[in-house]
Amino acid sequence: MDIQRFFDDQLNSWDEANDRFRALSEVLTKQMQVASETISVQYNPARAISSLAKLDTKTLSQRPCFLCHDNRPRQQLKMPVLSRYHLLVNPFPIFSPHFTIASTTHQPQSLSLATVLDMLSLACQFPHHVVFFNGAKAGASAPDHLHLQMISASSLSTPVGIHSPLRKNTTLQSSDAERLANDILAAIGSSHLNAGLFNLLVLNDGSRWTADIYRRKTHRPTQYFDQTFMISPGAIDMAGTVIASRLEDYEKASPALLSDVFAQVADD
Ligand SMILES: [Zn+2]
Repeated sequence: MDIQRFFDDQLNSWDEANDRFRALSEVLTKQMQVASETISVQYNPARAISSLAKLDTKTLSQRPCFLCHDNRPRQQLKMPVLSRYHLLVNPFPIFSPHFTIASTTHQPQSLSLATVLDMLSLACQFPHHVVFFNGAKAGASAPDHLHLQMISASSLSTPVGIHSPLRKNTTLQSSDAERLANDILAAIGSSHLNAGLFNLLVLNDGSRWTADIYRRKTHRPTQYFDQTFMISPGAIDMAGTVIASRLEDYEKASPALLSDVFAQVADD
């Protein structure tokens, strides 16, 4: 099925999701110069469910997994992809459209060679879209259930494939999937891979793939824990759109604060 049709069908049949996507057109956003680049800040209160989520093992083990088929809202449609995933409309969107691609089996959010190859394959299947992966300790709101996400490439304020000294991404390009997948895993490195401290974004332009890798020192900055600036950077934030789920954080966001946050969370 065509993905736009799937998206439209879902919004037409699920009022709650439709309302959140409609609300996106009215979210507050501002741009600011941080070092030599433009960072977007988005005030998105619906994301509090994700960005303020408790992610400790005890909390996770006590909640029903919202990506497992039997626990999903009954209104949520699924589109099978690659025979191992269900493509879903994300009911807590950052951009429109915003998809979650959940494994059909409940298994940890860890990145294998097979999963990277799946991401490259999906990037070909859905041109003009960015497929991304949040490491279990770097923004994944379901670290216990393997999932990818996908947005339109045009949603990102900074295109994939441009190195940023502030956000410290590693950029790789290739037309050889097998080789690129191995290079991606090598660039993340086994310690970051095992710790779940990375974000990965990929897209395909019809002739080759581009991948951006963000190695992370930590998920949340110190300001999160003293509650002075509660942001939880995942792949989208690292790619240049910082999500604030509280108005006070949106208003407080400044070049100095964002520069400090990226210095804390981005690893070389
Ligand atoms: Zn699950």
